[in-house]
Amino acid sequence: MCGIVGYIGTQQAYPILIKGLHRLEYRGYDSAGVSLINKSGALTVYKAKGKVDDLEAVCADKDISGTIGIAHTRWATHGEPNEANAHPHYSQSHNLALVHNGIIENYKPLRSMMERSGISFCSDTDTEVLVQLVEYMQNSHKCDLFTAVQLALKNVVGAYAIAIIEKSHPDRIVCARKGSPLIIGVGKDKNDRAEFFIGSDATPIVEYTDQVVYLGDEEIASLDRTGKLQITNLNNVKQTPQLVKLQMSLDQLEKGGYPHFMLKEIWEQPDALRICIKGRVSNLNSKVTLSGIIDHKDKFLNCRRIIICACGTSWHASLIGKYFIEEACHLPVEVEYASEFRYRNPVINADDVVIAVSQSGETADTLAAIQLAKEHHAFVYGICNVIGSSISRATDSGTYLHVGPEIGVASTKAFTGQVITLCLLGLAIAQEKKTLNDKMLNMLVNELQQIPDKMQWTLEHNKDISQFAQMFTYCKNFIYLGRGYNYPVALEGALKLKEISYIHAEGYPAAEMKHGPIALIDEEMPVVVIAPKRGMYDKIVSNIQEIKSRHGKIISVVTEGDVTVKEMSDFSFVIPDTRDCYVPLLAVIPLQLLSYYVAVAKGRNVDQPRNLAKSVTVE
Ligand code: GLU
Repeated sequence: MCGIVGYIGTQQAYPILIKGLHRLEYRGYDSAGVSLINKSGALTVYKAKGKVDDLEAVCADKDISGTIGIAHTRWATHGEPNEANAHPHYSQSHNLALVHNGIIENYKPLRSMMERSGISFCSDTDTEVLVQLVEYMQNSHKCDLFTAVQLALKNVVGAYAIAIIEKSHPDRIVCARKGSPLIIGVGKDKNDRAEFFIGSDATPIVEYTDQVVYLGDEEIASLDRTGKLQITNLNNVKQTPQLVKLQMSLDQLEKGGYPHFMLKEIWEQPDALRICIKGRVSNLNSKVTLSGIIDHKDKFLNCRRIIICACGTSWHASLIGKYFIEEACHLPVEVEYASEFRYRNPVINADDVVIAVSQSGETADTLAAIQLAKEHHAFVYGICNVIGSSISRATDSGTYLHVGPEIGVASTKAFTGQVITLCLLGLAIAQEKKTLNDKMLNMLVNELQQIPDKMQWTLEHNKDISQFAQMFTYCKNFIYLGRGYNYPVALEGALKLKEISYIHAEGYPAAEMKHGPIALIDEEMPVVVIAPKRGMYDKIVSNIQEIKSRHGKIISVVTEGDVTVKEMSDFSFVIPDTRDCYVPLLAVIPLQLLSYYVAVAKGRNVDQPRNLAKSVTVE
């Protein structure tokens, strides 16, 4: 949540910062701001409520010169989204400006302490406390900015990624992090002179350099215009910067002709999953190899239980993973909301494997769940998409999705990437544990390799639904039903619709209808039923009959060639036949398209739905 960008070097900072904010806007978009030390040496701060475009409008007639600057796009936690609360925040003397991602939990006592000593505050944010505290430390300890930041952060409880610039020292940016992510890009301008970039993720950096340093927890960095990069921890112990090469390309961050990132990412799924599977399945002997488990086979073979921790869409993918792993590996799997897991007293044994699933790899609650699992000496495995993310570094081992950057706030290709990765993990464990016979294992591996082609087929056969979707713009509620592997798909379909169209939607196991939700059915209620011609077909046909008897509108997802459910439905999406366990990978596609086209018809901001942000880096 929230995006931070920074630049120091020889180029004009403003265009780099604004471009960076646009790239980071998916992380938060209720207000934006920029701070520069301009050619006259003034420390300017410009802010706007709303989007980065609104900030650009504010800056249109301002002095935006300067070769050093920081910028921010906000997802408010403390204080409403208005101009005063937007970042950057000045210190009392206006000598410092700071941007922050995270939450300072003890901001109230810190603020009271400083107010008693005569410091006045201009915003309701927790963030302003930080910049005031840094200046307070500078004044009371007569120290430089770097030391003042160290001292200030020692008094802070909470999570932060920060960047600060100082009017009286216009040749450096100081930044630090704990919990929230921060990346430093190390580059050279065209005359080979040093320059540094800062980003909450790599998207604002990749255009300029592929050399980055992932700042560690409780580390502080000083980025000097001469090219000197100094990193210490809060106790001033020097840390050696580890330069890493970025694995991201610029075209992955563009819409590529699609009207929205979400639609692009829906259509990217077949190729994204091909890449995800590539190199992990041998065409010669159908063997599944995940490099993350090669050195840790014993952990998976000897564990008595797997606990998967995740949030949101990742939680739905994890539920499908649970069904798959339990069936294929005969291992009990529990799926936990990371936010619940971390705050109760869960039983975690040293011989448990805890799997953390998160697209961004920065989800604050999932990171805290990892910490808890480690305290109990469990083996912790990460499944995330963003290379070099906090979860990839906090876990003992793991697997990347490799589905490419996901920019649309509503997750699509990361969901299917997570499902297929969990299936690959289940197959790899089953292969070692010999819980599946060779015939079954080969069949499942071969079928998994067919999924990208079948996804392409599904996309092609369901692409023309924008007219149909118009019918639902006036609906207030939707119900989604599925059984077995398709119950999590019902949850995911409902979540997609809620997130981007703001229509209330609920997902249920189809048989649970009779235990309450059936009371909601009337002729106004669209009911989306995932009804493939597979395992529980007859049961779901009965469930559909029950809804029809109460005049509900049936929208079904059916297998190609199906007649019975199709005839009972007001509208059907068709998918090719596949094994039960892989149906979610196909059935979710028409549901993604349905929510997308309903949201478009309602005129919603599909890629940046209200109140949401892409990566939930605050708890
Ligand atoms: N807590 C800070 C605020 O509300 C930062 C939020 C963010 O990460 O965007 O301003």
